[in-house]
Amino acid sequence: MTIAIYPGSFDPIHNGHVEIVKRAAKLFDRVIWAAYDRPLKNLLFDEMERLEFMRQAARELANVQVLSYHGLTVSFARQMGAAAIVRGLRATHDFEIEYQMALINAQQAPEIDTVCLMTGASYAFLSSSILKEVALADGDISEMVPSFVAPRLKQRIAQLGDDRSEKVKLVSLQE
Ligand code: ADP
Repeated sequence: MTIAIYPGSFDPIHNGHVEIVKRAAKLFDRVIWAAYDRPLKNLLFDEMERLEFMRQAARELANVQVLSYHGLTVSFARQMGAAAIVRGLRATHDFEIEYQMALINAQQAPEIDTVCLMTGASYAFLSSSILKEVALADGDISEMVPSFVAPRLKQRIAQLGDDRSEKVKLVSLQE
C-alpha cells in the first residue's frame, strides 16, 4: 500500500487544495491530508476549525484521512509510513520554495519523495492570502472555496471589525 501525506496550513482550505487532494487520492492507496497545528503564519482559523473544513471536504474520499501534526513534516510522514509528500505547484514562483523544501526534506528523510502536482488552470491564481484579501474587501469568494467555508470565512472576517493592523497581518507575508 502506497501512502502519501498532503501537508499544509489550510487556513482555510480553498478549491485549489481540494482539487489537489482529490487528484492525490487517485494516485495513492491512502492519503493523509494533514494540517500543521501551529504554522508560522497569522492564522484566521484554529486547528480544530481547519480540520473540520478538511474533513467536510474529504467526506466522500474513502482513502483520505484528515489529521493534524506538529514538528517536522518528514517525521510525521515517517510515523505514518508515507512514501511521498504531496505538494501543489502553482505558477513559477512556487517552484523555488517547493524545490528548496523538497531538498531539505530529502536530506532529512531520503526514503520519502516529494511529489508536486501542477495546479489546474482554474486555481493557478488562488492562494489563501488572495482569498482572505478578497474576503476582507467583501468580494465574491463563492468560486474560490467550498460552499461550507464561504459563510464561516465572511463571519470570521466580520468579527475582526475595523482592526486594520489585524487585517494587514492576515494577508501579508503569507502564501
Ligand atoms: P503552506 O503553509 O505549506 O504553504 P498552504 O495551506 O498555503 O500551506 O498550502 C498547502 C499546499 O497546497 C502547498 O503545497 C501549496 O503549494 C498548495 N496550494 C496552495 N494553493 C494552491 C492552489 N491554488 N492550487 C493547488 N495547490 C495549491
